[in-house]
Amino acid sequence: MSHPPSLPALGPSAAPPTWLGVMGGGQLGRMFAHAAQAMGYKVAVLEPAPDCPAGHAADHLLSAAYTDGAALDELAAQCVAVTTEFENVPAQSLARLASRSFVAPSAACVSVAQDRMEEKRFFTECAAASGVLPAPHTLIGSDADIDGLSQDLFPGILKTVRLGYDGKGQARVNTPDQARAAFAAMNGAQCILEKMLRLAHEISVLAVRGVDGQSAVYPIAQNEHRDGILFTTTVPGPDITEEHARKAQAAALEIIRRLDYVGVLCIEFFVLDDGQLVVNEMAPRPHNSGHYTIDACVTSQFAQQARAMARLPLGDTRQHSPAVMLNVLGDVWFKAGDEAPREPAWDKVLALPGANLHLYGKDQPRRARKMGHVTFVAATMQEAQESLRAACDVLGIAR
Ligand code: ADP
Ligand code: MG
Repeated sequence: MSHPPSLPALGPSAAPPTWLGVMGGGQLGRMFAHAAQAMGYKVAVLEPAPDCPAGHAADHLLSAAYTDGAALDELAAQCVAVTTEFENVPAQSLARLASRSFVAPSAACVSVAQDRMEEKRFFTECAAASGVLPAPHTLIGSDADIDGLSQDLFPGILKTVRLGYDGKGQARVNTPDQARAAFAAMNGAQCILEKMLRLAHEISVLAVRGVDGQSAVYPIAQNEHRDGILFTTTVPGPDITEEHARKAQAAALEIIRRLDYVGVLCIEFFVLDDGQLVVNEMAPRPHNSGHYTIDACVTSQFAQQARAMARLPLGDTRQHSPAVMLNVLGDVWFKAGDEAPREPAWDKVLALPGANLHLYGKDQPRRARKMGHVTFVAATMQEAQESLRAACDVLGIAR
């Protein structure tokens, strides 16, 4: 399906105000609201939790379930365009919004990203042009699927087909017996078994596409995870060859084009020990590994999302400074053995050269909860890395 090129742009206006809508009230919605408001839009958020990071920033918060028909219709009536910050919004809700407003990305695109099997099938199709395949994998819908498994998939990772994130809904399995036990522990959820690959590096490509088919990519981001959660993003990636960067960016552009996607899309890739490039998964929204764009690029991923959904010209994706982003998890509020949370020494973090602090307004720090991030920008990567190291010392994060 192709969008007619004659669709009008939905630029900001003050009177009457132009509203953009977001499904989901997390930090991605909050940072989207900040960017869209800076451009002159008003922002409405639909989210069931009344106290949420995006709700504090939005001009209007609709506290309702993602499937609440009346709330969806109200959002669609208020907003010239609606996006999502959360990929598990029911596709039917996006489809309902689309009958009354412009929705980007579309329900069809989001539903591919919601289903790991569908996503990998789609990536395999794209590989005919890009040469970048997903990891070897198979669907595990029942115990019988484990019986006939090829030994080649072990050691492997069992992942739920739906609703996994930050390493949740995953189990590492070395044998069919372990796969059976892990599958039973998923309480009947459909899974895929994926071969465990030997990763040299993890990278992501942030891409954006407009309704007119124009697209752009940001520089390659190199990502380090800890316990399944993004720990740092470094751009440019110090270990990434130009050839890997070009190949991953070309694969991302093929994926976004074939999806007929509108908006910001992030695609994760693995670089293997043997140099092979493998596509892992995609997020149909701005992404944690793209937070560095706020401070280090001409156009942030959130401003870019506003432009794409409002059918405005895409912004410049150029990076003006080397950058390192450090995720701030709730852990840094707790010293070992200490029960009561303590506010970290933000004054000391902000004293470091090139520090940009972003906190998400969450008043309950919990271990492994994403509370904010800090991006260090500097004239050289070495200086940015020095600030990162100093910040880890201040925050008590082991390096
Ligand atoms: P999530 O939705 O939780 O981000 P991912 O598929 O990205 O799920 O997996 C989380 C992390 O687990 C990855 O960033 C990577 O470090 C590791 N991982 C996932 N799949 C594989 C694989 N096939 N081989 C090796 N490591 C993997
Ligand atoms: Mg991932």
